[in-house]
Amino acid sequence: MIEHWIGGERIGSAQTFTDVSPIDGRVLTEVARGGAAEAERAVNAAKKAFPAWAGTSKAERAEILHAIADGVEKRLEELAITETEDNGALLRSHRRGVMPRVARNFRFFADWLVQLEHKDFDTRGHTNHVSWDPSGPCALITPWNAPLMLATWKIAPALAAGNTVVLKPAEWSPRTASLLADITADAGLPDGVFNVVHGYGPEIGEPLVAHPDIRRVSFTGSVPTARRIAAAAAANLTPISLELGGKSPLLIFTDADLDLAVDLAVEQYDNAGQVCLAATRILVEASIADEFTERFIAKASGLTQGDPRDEATDIGPNIHERQLAKIDGYVQRALGSGARAVVGGGPNEDLGGLYYRPTLLTNVAQDSEIVQDEVFGPVLTLQTFTAEEEAVRLANDTRYGLAATLATGSRDRADRVTKQLVAGTVWVNCFFVRDLQAPFGGARQSGIGREGGNWSFDFYCDVKNTVTAPKGWNDRG
Ligand code: NAP
Repeated sequence: MIEHWIGGERIGSAQTFTDVSPIDGRVLTEVARGGAAEAERAVNAAKKAFPAWAGTSKAERAEILHAIADGVEKRLEELAITETEDNGALLRSHRRGVMPRVARNFRFFADWLVQLEHKDFDTRGHTNHVSWDPSGPCALITPWNAPLMLATWKIAPALAAGNTVVLKPAEWSPRTASLLADITADAGLPDGVFNVVHGYGPEIGEPLVAHPDIRRVSFTGSVPTARRIAAAAAANLTPISLELGGKSPLLIFTDADLDLAVDLAVEQYDNAGQVCLAATRILVEASIADEFTERFIAKASGLTQGDPRDEATDIGPNIHERQLAKIDGYVQRALGSGARAVVGGGPNEDLGGLYYRPTLLTNVAQDSEIVQDEVFGPVLTLQTFTAEEEAVRLANDTRYGLAATLATGSRDRADRVTKQLVAGTVWVNCFFVRDLQAPFGGARQSGIGREGGNWSFDFYCDVKNTVTAPKGWNDRG
């Protein structure tokens, strides 16, 4: 049984929900199903713990964050296995990429905090001093596709900033958040500084966001939920940071290294397509489209789908039957409207369960839902263009603007196209290279605000400017 972690104590709820593994449908555990009362209790614990935590020195906070990172590294294997059982993502990625990044989130923001500064500046002899003050309890709400990595990308800067936290993880993958609570306690984080509540979003997430003592809300998830969160936060004008979905393009020009372009395209099936940043719309210059498609099919056919705990597996299951039905609905409607599946096109009947075949659809219209909507599964579309302007127009023609990737051999073209793309992140001849000091976020409906490096502290802190009169005022006795 997984219970809430509030004020340094495990607390149950009258009701529970069942956490099931997407790998094989095995029941993993029962989880406390909290509501407004548990949200209230957690916010109160975070509020009570806030003054003392905000009053600790940067060095003390940094030391505890590093101790949390040590704890993550010590329990890395357990965290990796737990997360794979919970959300079906590859165990090898959890071991080698995701969990080390979780530890890095804590180390990075601990170190960044210590060197965070703005150079003092002068106004007619007066000194301006900028400081980042702790703001109070933060509500952090996170999804299931990379549960602990996405949660700690918020938790670490929020705690480093001197704030306290109430985390609500997604109901489909709640277990590693609970392990993290133990790790924070072992690291010496005082009771109430970090709290975890479980339950369904509308039941516990919404009262948490709407609580008047919450000073920041950081949310990663879908656009429809973001609308509800923004509405709930509006009552108290609580500042929100929204990291939302995408429908990002991969633009491939004739001057691209085609092997690289194919690798970049096939990489988009990573995590069974459940990646917000995934470049799911392949836009390829018409003159190389046939050769690209042929090579893509050859490479994609070599992917191994199966149990994500197996080192040889490239693509695991999707998260839930509801998600699988949503993915297949998009694909079948597209096929019904004239699209052609040159790769995949349906569930993997050999494996059954929640395994969906990696799919590539051609013959899709720009205004169709398969091109415009985020599917969040292993489904890519391929369209062609004949001129650079057309590529840019197609790339920008959705309501999203999270990321864009381009493959080209021309630096001039890269500069020209990059300037015109609407995206929070652009990758040129690479994909998913992420640095924690870089701004991260989306344009249009892909989000509001940026996190990462200074941007995280700008969001989580009350930024203050102190103006001090010219020298001499303190000598008056
Ligand atoms: P979701 O349905 O919006 O849920 C995200 C979180 O919000 C979950 O913890 C959910 O709780 C909670 N929630 C649901 N309704 C709520 C409400 N009314 N008030 C407060 N909280 C509520 O999204 P998802 O399906 O989990 O995640 C997939 C989406 O996340 C995709 O659109 C993806 O692109 C996006 N994403 C974006 C980024 C990014 O950095 N931009 C990264 C990863 C994912 P329960 O599920 O427990 O009910």
